Amino acid sequence: MRTRSRAAAASVAVLAIASALLFGAYEYAESPASQLFGPTLVSGPPTDHVVALTFDDGPNPPYTNEIVRLLERERVRATFFVVGRAVAAHPAIVRREALDGDALGDHSWDHAHLIVMSAAQVARSLQRTNEAIARATGSRTTLMRPPFGKRDWFVLSEARALGYTPVMWSVPLAHDWENPPPRVIAERVERYVRNGSIIVLHDGDEGILCSPEHRAPCNRTSTVQAARLIIDDLKRRGYGFVTIPALLALSTHA
Ligand SMILES: [Zn+2]
Repeated sequence: MRTRSRAAAASVAVLAIASALLFGAYEYAESPASQLFGPTLVSGPPTDHVVALTFDDGPNPPYTNEIVRLLERERVRATFFVVGRAVAAHPAIVRREALDGDALGDHSWDHAHLIVMSAAQVARSLQRTNEAIARATGSRTTLMRPPFGKRDWFVLSEARALGYTPVMWSVPLAHDWENPPPRVIAERVERYVRNGSIIVLHDGDEGILCSPEHRAPCNRTSTVQAARLIIDDLKRRGYGFVTIPALLALSTHA
């Protein structure tokens, strides 16, 4: 009896260790910096005193418009990873981003998980979005960021086969979509900023087309104000702001 319970305890321990290892491996594989599923851009070269500010999940008026005006005023260029259905609904603001010299990236048609889709569905979601971007701006993008940062080998190889460079991030997500005070968002970001950092903020909510009943999750007032604080503080620290294509160019020439 004692031997049996000891054996049972040992199997439980082995199972617990095995699942902890598996969970750890999964966490590692899915972490933004992981290259396990193939190469992604996580940050720029550590030699350049620049950061890339990126905004996901828009366009989402009026908050996206406020961010665009802020970037214009501050003479800062950023990269917008846009959701196709929102681009189709609000092409004018996307056109203005492009005219300002901001870069655009493909964040899928409706922000659904790409990892549960067939290769054909992944291609359709990305290409449909890119067509909406091209209709709005006159040119297509070669950048993509998977919704929720979730990717696997199949998603990334499909994206690369379609000509995309997958882009992740190096500064941990500030959870700005939960609308904490702007100063809290700014501090969460600034603590992790280094040379070449890629920062993610959210100007929309999964590309939802905001109607009055969607107003709460779509409210990005905190993000708009946090973006202003982050730009002010990083300028004070001497950082330059570049788009993702500019960061890629620095990486190639490094
Ligand atoms: Zn997103």
